[in-house]
Amino acid sequence: RNTAEKFEFQAEVSRLMDIIINSLYSNKDIFLRELISNASDALDKIRFLSLTDKEVLGEGDNAKLDIQIKLDKEKKILSIRDRGIGMTKEDLIKNLGTIAKSGTSAFVEKMQTSGDLNLIGQFGVGFYSVYLVADYVEVISKHNEDKQYVWESKADGAFAISEDTWNEPLGRGTEIRLHLREEAGEYLEESKLKDLVKKYSEFINFPIYLWASKEVDVEVPAEEDESSDEDETSAESSSSDDGDSEKSEDEDAEEKPKTKKIKETTYEWELLNDVKAIWLRNPKEVTEEEYTKFYHSLAKDLGDEKPLAWSHFTAEGDVEFKAGLFVPPKAPHDLYESYYNTNKANLKLYVRRVFISDEFDELLPKYLNFLMGLVDSDTLPLNVSREMLQQHSSLKTIKKKLIRKALDMIRKIADEDPDEANDKDKKDVENSSDDEKKGQYAKFWNEFGKSIKLGIIEDSVNRNRLAKLLRFETTKSDGKLTSLDQYISRMKSGQKDIFYITGPNKEQVEKSPFLERLKKKGYEVIYFTDPVDEYLMQYLMDYEDQKFQNVSKEGLKLGKDSKAKELKESFKELTKWWKGALASENVDDVKISNRLADTPCVVVTSKYGWSANMERIMQAQTL
Ligand code: ADP
Ligand code: MG
Repeated sequence: RNTAEKFEFQAEVSRLMDIIINSLYSNKDIFLRELISNASDALDKIRFLSLTDKEVLGEGDNAKLDIQIKLDKEKKILSIRDRGIGMTKEDLIKNLGTIAKSGTSAFVEKMQTSGDLNLIGQFGVGFYSVYLVADYVEVISKHNEDKQYVWESKADGAFAISEDTWNEPLGRGTEIRLHLREEAGEYLEESKLKDLVKKYSEFINFPIYLWASKEVDVEVPAEEDESSDEDETSAESSSSDDGDSEKSEDEDAEEKPKTKKIKETTYEWELLNDVKAIWLRNPKEVTEEEYTKFYHSLAKDLGDEKPLAWSHFTAEGDVEFKAGLFVPPKAPHDLYESYYNTNKANLKLYVRRVFISDEFDELLPKYLNFLMGLVDSDTLPLNVSREMLQQHSSLKTIKKKLIRKALDMIRKIADEDPDEANDKDKKDVENSSDDEKKGQYAKFWNEFGKSIKLGIIEDSVNRNRLAKLLRFETTKSDGKLTSLDQYISRMKSGQKDIFYITGPNKEQVEKSPFLERLKKKGYEVIYFTDPVDEYLMQYLMDYEDQKFQNVSKEGLKLGKDSKAKELKESFKELTKWWKGALASENVDDVKISNRLADTPCVVVTSKYGWSANMERIMQAQTL
């Protein structure tokens, strides 16, 4: 077309498309889920706008918020159309090709090694999965504020945009036409599409229709049938064959001939999904499988791994809402990437079933951003802007309840995990036959332990609850994870403090001379070897009335030591001389140590100063 404007894909996008096109990835089905998910997002957007401005929906069919799938077997075209917000020309250029999402290159790298496309949606590049099945794609789109345009590309590094003067006007929304590749013929089968919609798009909150064929019985005059054995009408029948049908009908009516039924194929829109929201259902009636599938649809994850835990509940009282929270089986790739600069909540907010936003960061504190889920509020007003909602007083209450529920849910993973049991309650858990729960908390901890630590630092109100969730190894844990409660249950009589040591890794802290005496005397010492642990311990001062004591810092007390005073006295001259011999900017004091057994001396940091490990971390950060 001569009016077409040509554009080049951004390099990252182009690379991604090459990989997709040449992919041997066997699950090509995912493209449909991505397109339906985009259609649903676009419908959510227009519905949200319509809350404050009814006009945006328009009239008649335009106001119907649905998704339509159509097949053209002859031309091998599969099209998906929505009456969502649509895209302006500028949107088409920006969204489909020239601006790569932040995770694109990370995803491309991952794809090259693993070839696994399951998470394409999570990386914000799901649209390009169309090239798994199509070699030529057209996107026709009409936004309220622009004309209708066609975007098209054969994935050859470039795309074109033209003002649409030849297709039927869409009114509003987007139609994606996939010109299917030879080997993708299965996507022209209605049954295949029905199965896919069932499988992947069960939780889409808009009706999805398929232009489906249907065999119907139609009555036709018997004489139209060539095999008719009624001689009397056969002459007329042959004349009506080349004559126009109106005439023959007239004749039929007059003569009232016998009719017969034949099968004819007609088409009609068939609804493929049930749009009742799962979170409105009674939790007792929702199966584990349904929760798992719902989680996958929320998380844009095509794998089949179960979430580690979920919580589905209704809050009543001043602020009423329903919520579903999930702990993913794996941390998303960018969870801690720029923790302090962005707040990427994964919680969708609905008000009375209407999707409002998934960028509402007032609903959960940052450290719980690894959770997926949704909140549907009956209390929040519908007809106000997002900004106004953000100020609403109910949000604080919702947030408080969500945190509480989230922490309960996480604690339950531990409670139900046989590996987590204390010796004293081991029996109960062993009786439970739930093998599935075994090792689940360690899995949670490996993926999200850092979030719990960040929570302890940031959320003083829930600090104790979060500390209960903390896991670590110790001098006595035998390479396994243990908790503060378990530590306390093993404390020696007379032991007042919880001992810990920090360092760059377990191998180093294990050998530390600071542990010599403590180990000999049978005290247990926690290993904190994550850089964040140093910060953590600046906030976590005590737990259930026990104070924390860093064994490499001044002030270590190991119960009563009768000889300590005596030793201090007899070595007084030596320590005095030693202190004088070292410059005062290097040491504050020289003391008789109660923590050594074999090593002659150690350098200890002062109670309120940085530990040596913290010095190391700070240096690493500034260098
Ligand atoms: P994501 O949906 O995660 O943003 P995609 O690659 O699936 O990533 O889509 C890219 C962008 O293209 C979307 O963010 C959206 O702006 C736009 N888009 C895609 N499909 C549609 C559609 N049917 N209607 C309106 N906009 C769309
Ligand atoms: Mg998408």
